[in-house]
Amino acid sequence: MLYYSLRHAAPPVDFRQATVAGQAPDGGLYFPATIPRFSPDFLRELKTMDKAAVAFAVMQPYVGDTIPADVLRRICAEAVDFDFPLVEVTARTSALELFHGPTLAFKDVGARFMSRCLGYFSRQGQAQVTVLVATSGDTGGAVASGFLGVAGVEVIILYPAGKVSPVQELQLTTLGRNITALEVQGTFDDCQRLVKQAFTDADLARRYVLTSANSINVARWLPQQIYYCYALQQWPHIEPPVFSVPSGNFGNLCAGLLAHVSGLPARHFLAACNANDAVPDYLRSGEFTPKAAVATISNAMDVGHPSNFARILELFQHDYEPIRTTVSGYSVTDAATAATIRAVYEQHHYLLDPHGAVAYAAWQQYLAEHPTARGIVLETAHPVKFYDVVEPIIAAKVPVPTALDGLLTRQKQSVGLAADFAALKEYLLGR
Ligand SMILES: *Cc1c(COP(=O)(O)O)cnc(C)c1O
Repeated sequence: MLYYSLRHAAPPVDFRQATVAGQAPDGGLYFPATIPRFSPDFLRELKTMDKAAVAFAVMQPYVGDTIPADVLRRICAEAVDFDFPLVEVTARTSALELFHGPTLAFKDVGARFMSRCLGYFSRQGQAQVTVLVATSGDTGGAVASGFLGVAGVEVIILYPAGKVSPVQELQLTTLGRNITALEVQGTFDDCQRLVKQAFTDADLARRYVLTSANSINVARWLPQQIYYCYALQQWPHIEPPVFSVPSGNFGNLCAGLLAHVSGLPARHFLAACNANDAVPDYLRSGEFTPKAAVATISNAMDVGHPSNFARILELFQHDYEPIRTTVSGYSVTDAATAATIRAVYEQHHYLLDPHGAVAYAAWQQYLAEHPTARGIVLETAHPVKFYDVVEPIIAAKVPVPTALDGLLTRQKQSVGLAADFAALKEYLLGR
């Protein structure tokens, strides 16, 4: 499989080069040159396949011969080494729980897959690789956990000061070893802009082999298709589900759409956003206008200029009509998000996190207009990650899962940084 840059000013590369580079040298995102189709056998046998076999079948065409089949099988098995239960909340609504990995968010899947690929490529003779990653909250922890102790790889995380939850901050600032956290005086969009600029800087390129672990990186983005297959494995109905996807940078939704274009059944997709509504605006009007990010209680989705929107356009060949008929956009206020958490907790005894609640609220709006539909809400994080938001809403404590044992008493270690590229460059060159 070859990958081309969406800016069309850099040569096509294979999976290994795309993973190590993160972003194309012309500043574009890499995109697969052909979209593989799931075979009829795969779709027929899906329900009885084990998790690792599904992951391998989905990823093999994208990886090609850059990783031997036996190594890729092991990487796949390790990346999805936890549960992905589909939990029925009401007769028409199920939650796909993507938070049973080590950092309690769906980003564990992509981060674990990518870290193992990069570790393999680095052992195959690459120089030391530096992963530079911007996080709105959950990416940092998932990437830090995925890469902790991986030889030949160091990780530098940029996160917006004061805009991530206490649990998230501890997850990304307390690991030490090959993980460094930079606390940026700005927003997630500032962090993402600094990372993108670093990739195109000639002085940094002389000193570092830099790569990204955001969903910009194909090795993080593509494996997110896998759990859409796990959802269908557990789907008991004939009529395919509507997927409601809480979205910020749109890697998750774009992966679902990619799986769908590859043949995975779905009735419809919902782009569920908080107040950061550039994509819902586009879906309504056909015009895309990036905006400045605003802070909400679903902070991992506080993205004003989502990177993966460009991939969604490419997937549908820049044709507004098929995008509009496949995806509907919703923008949910913080008040509606909180009301949804409370109502679902009280009426159905199911505790949503703020991101899953945005998707749930969007799904309820869709269901009101399409009363015969059945939907899957992607529950992207465990509510305990946002206990500071959730506990006052439900007036109860969120039980702490064992995955967080010890974390809450560790010491934060971070380096403060202005939201300014010169400051980042000076830091990186001065280390
Ligand atoms: C990152 C994140 C999202 C948004 O996912 P994108 O792929 O960036 O759209 C949603 N929910 C949670 C909990 C997240 O961490």
